[in-house]
Amino acid sequence: MTISLYNTLTRSLEEFVPLHEGRVAMYSCGPTVYNYAHIGNMRAFLFSDLLHRVLRVVGAYDVRWVMNITDIDDKTIRDSSKGASTWRTEMGAQSEDAVENLRRFTEFYADEFLQDIATLGIKRENFYKVPYATHYMASMQHLIRRIGEKGIAYERGGSVYFNVAEWRKIDTYGKLFKIDAENFQEGVRIDADEYDRESVSDFVLWKAQKDGEPAWDFEFEGKNLSGRPGWHIECSAMEQDILGLPFDIHTGGVDLCFPHHEDEIAQSKAGYGVEPTRYWVHNEFLEVEGQKMSKSLGNFYTVRDLLQKGIDALDIRWLMLSAQYSSRLNFTFAGLEAGRKARLRVQDYIFGLWEKAGAQIHSTRTETTNTLRSAVFSELANNLNTPKAFAELFTFMNRNAASAFDAAEASSLLGFFQELNNIFDVWKFEARPGETLQIPDAVKALAEERWKARTMKNFAESDRLRGELAAHGFTVKDSKDGYTLEKA
Ligand SMILES: [Zn+2]
Repeated sequence: MTISLYNTLTRSLEEFVPLHEGRVAMYSCGPTVYNYAHIGNMRAFLFSDLLHRVLRVVGAYDVRWVMNITDIDDKTIRDSSKGASTWRTEMGAQSEDAVENLRRFTEFYADEFLQDIATLGIKRENFYKVPYATHYMASMQHLIRRIGEKGIAYERGGSVYFNVAEWRKIDTYGKLFKIDAENFQEGVRIDADEYDRESVSDFVLWKAQKDGEPAWDFEFEGKNLSGRPGWHIECSAMEQDILGLPFDIHTGGVDLCFPHHEDEIAQSKAGYGVEPTRYWVHNEFLEVEGQKMSKSLGNFYTVRDLLQKGIDALDIRWLMLSAQYSSRLNFTFAGLEAGRKARLRVQDYIFGLWEKAGAQIHSTRTETTNTLRSAVFSELANNLNTPKAFAELFTFMNRNAASAFDAAEASSLLGFFQELNNIFDVWKFEARPGETLQIPDAVKALAEERWKARTMKNFAESDRLRGELAAHGFTVKDSKDGYTLEKA
């Protein structure tokens, strides 16, 4: 099935056509591993997971999905430095070596992150590669040198900058974000990894080492520099190294459009002569209870915070996927609860089909299955419109009781639900679990009393208590050395 996506580059919904038939190479900007990821971050990763699964299942593509780990940038350096307040005992004693400290600190949070996303259904095997930026130092340096050779990078004070004024003589800067050229400040240099649109100026490719910071050696235009890469160059180098340019789709949160993705485009085109991709797909923000998530508002949650509150990881996944990625998502506890009901409603339907199908799942599609499948899949193919896809599913379930199907029809439908679960990954395919008997304390006490009366051969009292138990809806069965309670 053909898939349409909203392309930020063209500001339009476009039919996706891969560069190579049947194959898709996709790159997603991953986390900066300096703390536990919050649910706002998770929306971006769950969206990319959804997209790669829809491409696989609905588009029938062979997908290579790469998501990087940013283990070197302003934040990881700040928080891994000696004496940083975020340093944790799990990371071992702090070392005198800043590179070693950075490695211990970021590996800890990278592992925690990979665990968190696995809890939410983003499994390690879903990725083709999860590269760590520090492992690609040579590729980054190579790219910076190439940009330098084209006359678009220059060294100042041990740092190397991208010369935006020179680049603008060759190509447009601001293709993605549509930057107003008036904002450009010629000859102004910016060292921060993150900056706003008012600060369009020469951005940093390589940063000179400051006191105590981790650093790598870098030879640039005959000078020996010591420092580390800027954040933007990391993705450009890893993309080329792992997927090669151009690749098919680049994803990320809308907050990454500028400067990160804008700078990626300029660097790759300047250094490699090719733009990274033709399809830039961005997910919108997540709000919590109608407000921007922030620590000061007390609505800031990590995945762990939610699990500790007893929330099921599957409900987090379901809620995040139930809104279309391109619109804002309001994350509320009421929404989680409503989502849970909807998810379990589908689960119950699957249990019903399982029973009718005699546990047989068939991939052969009946007419009913085909109709439902094309209705649901065409909504997913339409810019991942999950709300409409779910609406199709629920309309079908409302009109057709699972118990109304014969075995062949139920088996075929189960085949489709299983296919759908390769995308959503929130349902189980098994028999409905037996209900566990809940026995109220009052009933337990009555039963104990009756057992005592019986062992003392007080049969009148024992019978009276049996009657009381029956009034509570329980029957009692005696054996030689005990009894069991059953629902009457
Ligand atoms: Zn990136």
